[in-house]
Amino acid sequence: MSIPFNFLNEQQQNALSSLSAGLNREQIIWLSGYFQGLLNSSGNIPATLPVQPQKNKQLKILYGTHTGRSKTIAGQLAGKLAARGVEVQAVALDEYKTRQLASETNLVFIVSTHGEGEPPAMAEDFYEFITGKRSPQLPKLNYSVVALGDKSYKLFCKTGIDIDQALAKAGAKSILPVLTLDVDFEDQAAQWISQFTDIFAETPDASDQPNPASIPPSQSDLYSRKNPFRATVIDKVKITGRDSDKEVYHVELSLDGSGINYEPGDSVGILANNPPALVDAILKQTNLSGTEQVTLKEGNYSLQEALSDHLEITVLNREVIQKYLEKTGNKKLQEIIEDETALDRYLYGHDVLDLLEEFPFSFSARELADLLRSFPARLYSISSSQSSVGDEVHITVATVRYSHKGRERGGACSTFLADRIEIDSTVPVFIEKNPAFKLPENEKTPVILIGAGTGVAPYRAFLQHREANNQKGKTWLFFGERRFHSDFLYQAEWQKLQKDGYLEKIDVAFSRDQEEKIYVQNRLIERQKEVFAWLNNGANIYLCGDIKQMARDVQKTLLQIFETEGGMSEEKALEYLKTLKKEKRFQTDVY
Ligand code: NAP
Repeated sequence: MSIPFNFLNEQQQNALSSLSAGLNREQIIWLSGYFQGLLNSSGNIPATLPVQPQKNKQLKILYGTHTGRSKTIAGQLAGKLAARGVEVQAVALDEYKTRQLASETNLVFIVSTHGEGEPPAMAEDFYEFITGKRSPQLPKLNYSVVALGDKSYKLFCKTGIDIDQALAKAGAKSILPVLTLDVDFEDQAAQWISQFTDIFAETPDASDQPNPASIPPSQSDLYSRKNPFRATVIDKVKITGRDSDKEVYHVELSLDGSGINYEPGDSVGILANNPPALVDAILKQTNLSGTEQVTLKEGNYSLQEALSDHLEITVLNREVIQKYLEKTGNKKLQEIIEDETALDRYLYGHDVLDLLEEFPFSFSARELADLLRSFPARLYSISSSQSSVGDEVHITVATVRYSHKGRERGGACSTFLADRIEIDSTVPVFIEKNPAFKLPENEKTPVILIGAGTGVAPYRAFLQHREANNQKGKTWLFFGERRFHSDFLYQAEWQKLQKDGYLEKIDVAFSRDQEEKIYVQNRLIERQKEVFAWLNNGANIYLCGDIKQMARDVQKTLLQIFETEGGMSEEKALEYLKTLKKEKRFQTDVY
């Protein structure tokens, strides 16, 4: 690698060349945090790296991650702290021995929350321990919690908040109050890391705890939500039949020139824009022209641009309603927000225009922009494998359209992909790693894949991967959709995979082809003997699709199978499921 900067002397250039030649991307990101930390450290740049500092402050970062974001933040924090001479160690929560807790002095927890307030699988045991009866008193401990979540869910950041409260209850002292991060977390996380590093590095230490300095690299990618790659659409096909009442698209995007790598199981983040008709209707309702300038976190825009590309307008959340109430003081809205059931009902299927129409108020452009949440990227499980498609990424997207209160509505991103892009358009994308949804390392391990609707997407990636690498481990797909005739997604591909020996078995459940609903879990019950035999032979089991009902029902069915086929009590079946999760033999990708 040649170094273009002639302000380094030759010796420095050589040193930098030989260092960077051996670095992987994650190490480069860690080093960038390290050098940033050096810059912030009151200009005092040490001549040598403080890899083995003498009697330096020590801190452990414990992270619980599902998508890898918490681990990324842990890596960034570790880099900055190390640059300030702190001995820092980052440990995954499923590798942390809770018996060490009582002897810890400085801890940072970085942990996400999923779905309806659940911890990520790797943090489940720790969460149970710290919030349970057996958690110890922790008077020696100084700590901080960074909680990641998604404001569209009711129990926003619950795991982190619960851990924070449990630690406070145990007598630990917080260094900074719990930080709650929504899906657009990057800026706030970076600010917090700087603030925390300054406070921690400058405070005299009472710790004498010998922690080894081992820092795992962060998992960021060159392209991110803030710096997406513009991928060209190379194909877009509706894969549900003409007479289907669903609209599912298979979209192929080119990553050519990006150097982006992903693995089967990862997701792609798409930065879409909002339906233009909804933007226009909001402007009309507020009597604003759209040319007014507003300042957002991302920069200055016209209100029209902000509503179209940068602010969430197709869905509401509690925070938006709260801010709306504070601004308008509307009594009826107050009643809604004070009643959980009424609030849930209101949040479901209503958008920003509904609020403006039902509770009119004269907003300035600035006030309107302040009210709204930043537009979060939408994540789709990737339905291709790079072993097979190279510099392409494929997704499988069900278009969300519905009519409510006499108005046609749609999901922001799914209608963007269905209506507002065509072949040769470009789409801003980035990869979101999903280390918790991965094929087994041993290609011979049998896999049972359960997916409903577009939840089948990652299995196309899994099987493409096995086919491209000629891996013929046993595979069994359970797939559910509405109708055989019009909704059998990727039917021809499954059949070919089966013929070529990459898919041993496929069981399908078409819910609306008969009077009574038949779902994937009904097929599992019909095949329960064999399903349990596969598990006994070491199979991994995967579940992908809707989190609200399907995932719960399928898990219940699995427990039932463990009881009948494994002769387990209800408790033992639960324990077995937990063990499968812990051993990463039961993995879920549900949202
Ligand atoms: P869907 O609405 O989930 O429907 C697919 C099939 O599942 C239908 O036959 C449906 O039957 C059936 N179903 C309904 N309730 C069920 C239950 N309790 N148990 C088992 N099956 C049930 O399909 P979709 O519209 O394609 O939505 C997919 C879901 O997967 C979304 O929630 C999405 O967020 C999630 N997801 C998508 C991706 C992706 O990459 N696109 C990745 C991960 C997760 P009926 O409708 O006839 O009752």
